Amino acid sequence: MMKRLPRLPRSRASDSVFDILRENILGRGFRPGDRLDVRALADQLGVSATPVKDAVTRLAAEGLVEIRPRSGTFVAELAADAVAETFEIRRALECLAAEHVIGRLTPDLLSRFTAIVDALERPVSTDRERAQHEQKNVELHTLLVETTGNRRLTDLYRSLNAHLVVARVHSRRSPEQSRLDQERREHRAILEALDARDATALVAALDRHIRRAGAALVDDVREAGVGAA
Ligand SMILES: [Zn+2]
Repeated sequence: MMKRLPRLPRSRASDSVFDILRENILGRGFRPGDRLDVRALADQLGVSATPVKDAVTRLAAEGLVEIRPRSGTFVAELAADAVAETFEIRRALECLAAEHVIGRLTPDLLSRFTAIVDALERPVSTDRERAQHEQKNVELHTLLVETTGNRRLTDLYRSLNAHLVVARVHSRRSPEQSRLDQERREHRAILEALDARDATALVAALDRHIRRAGAALVDDVREAGVGAA
């Protein structure tokens, strides 16, 4: 039998470097396609190269950084095609989840869904409110997938990191009010389908919501040229 290994303390430098780089990729600090020079970053941050390399590896696992052999490390591109592909997979996974959610829905879970949808109707005007709104949106969709109790589906869904794509696009181009109103109606429709325990309506509501949201993001990337370095 394998010996139980001790839990190692996580290096603080490594975590801080990860947080700083991630914030700058999700915000406006770095642009898609920017080269990340490990040595230069280490110098700038006053740390050794190791925590920077560790952070870069973790960011690559999230799809935020691309490590190109013999070429270098770059902030991942934000191409319209890749956004469209991510949202197609997301839609398929959430609609699959929707087929299994109703059977497992408890009153407790329904009130959690209700609380999240209520919170999503709060006004959004500042960057901070936008970030909170996006966080609540992630919570809603992740709870939906988790409710299936299907671990593989949940892992697959999480590894898609669709919310990071959303955050990257929105940090460069804030969604218009009309789009937020549309989104609210769609979230209400999802909640109503849950409340009515209507699996067909739930699949349809999610399908519409994710199709519309994906198309809007693709438009943003194309129009604002946010993918261009
Ligand atoms: Zn949503």
